[in-house]
Amino acid sequence: MRKRVILLIFLVFFVCINGAWGWGKELEVKVNLNKAKEAVFSSSGGLKIEIGKRYFSVPSSYPVHFREKGGKVEWEEENILSSEVYIYPKGKEPILWGKRPYRGSFIVKASSDGILVINQLPVEDYIKGTMKLELSPAWPVEALKAQIIVSRTYALKNLRRHEEEGFNFCATDHCQRYGGINAEDPVTNRLVEETKGLVLTYQNELASAVFHSESGGFTESALDVWGREVPYLVEVASPWEGNAPHSSWRVEFTKEELEESLREARLIQGEILDIRLSSSSEGRVEEVEVITTDGEFSFPASRFREAIGWEKLPSTFFAMKKEEKEQKVRKETFPSSSSSLSSSSFDYDEWMEKDWDLDDIINFLKMREEERNQKKGISPPPRIVVEEEVVSQGTAFIFEGKGYGHGVGLSQWGAKGMAEEGFSYEEILSHYFPGCRIERTTFK
Ligand SMILES: [Zn+2]
Repeated sequence: MRKRVILLIFLVFFVCINGAWGWGKELEVKVNLNKAKEAVFSSSGGLKIEIGKRYFSVPSSYPVHFREKGGKVEWEEENILSSEVYIYPKGKEPILWGKRPYRGSFIVKASSDGILVINQLPVEDYIKGTMKLELSPAWPVEALKAQIIVSRTYALKNLRRHEEEGFNFCATDHCQRYGGINAEDPVTNRLVEETKGLVLTYQNELASAVFHSESGGFTESALDVWGREVPYLVEVASPWEGNAPHSSWRVEFTKEELEESLREARLIQGEILDIRLSSSSEGRVEEVEVITTDGEFSFPASRFREAIGWEKLPSTFFAMKKEEKEQKVRKETFPSSSSSLSSSSFDYDEWMEKDWDLDDIINFLKMREEERNQKKGISPPPRIVVEEEVVSQGTAFIFEGKGYGHGVGLSQWGAKGMAEEGFSYEEILSHYFPGCRIERTTFK
């Protein structure tokens, strides 16, 4: 009995150590690339396929097809149905999913209305396949290293994000964008290897290493954006972003567009009468108050940005103005011929008394011409009267701001600017994550 308890304690200890960030063998992650109706795989080195406890060898460059059939995965070439299929490369050549190469192996899994295409690979290879989708490999090395450590930490911290769906990460911005070997670069691959296992920690635990593209000059605290206080996700200055692509931006929405988005997100009811902003001393909007025909509605600026669309409203670092939009419309009318000059008398005396300017000379000559034509029986062309009418286009809300992203944690463009000024990746990370340490996990 005692032995069993000791064994149990040992097992628990072992699981804890491995379950934290000191595993014995290199950790593999499952990345869901897509939900599809069908998928094709091949490899120039050939494939090994495991389906329903049977094993198959597929020759070099021979494509295998899988599709969804009655809630299962069907291997078309062999007519075998199963809920899951495992696909491994025979040699060192990567697997092609369609035409795109991926490291590691694949799992094709039946899901409610299609098949999931899941790429399973070591976490370090996964990080390599996120890099070119985050940054340019031409950026300074220290900024790239900072991003790699942040991406690795973020991945390890969020391993259980899609646990219920049977994988670790999706391949979109929700987790991190991942593109397999096509998203790798020799430079970033080398840096991933150089920094292998380095992660950001706070009080011996993995930090929440969040990042964004541009802060606009000041990062944002987790408390202001997500309502959750995190000691190292606080507002810091980021004055190195002058060359960033969104260092200033301007977007415009009609009242109706805002109403639709905010109503859909259940943030407001009624029609918008006005919008008021409460901002921090640096100018980042913290709270948005919308006054409508149904009352007043207040919510955090991050909720406002989410409702409008992350892409459409690049950050919460903005000022807003309201404008009544008007448009001048040209109206052309053809008055009846009776109002044309032909019927009016041509008073020479009146004209002779004038101080003539150029327009008068032209008009005089025109009238003389018409008079002559009239005498000859030629009717003048109908005169077109042009009027400009002002038409209301409704109310527009104009947002002018800085930065791109939620503004919390590492600013990628800030890191680039710091690296260009000679700061190391350690200095970059300790600036954006004050109080955190960089530690090496015990990968083998
Ligand atoms: Zn995800």
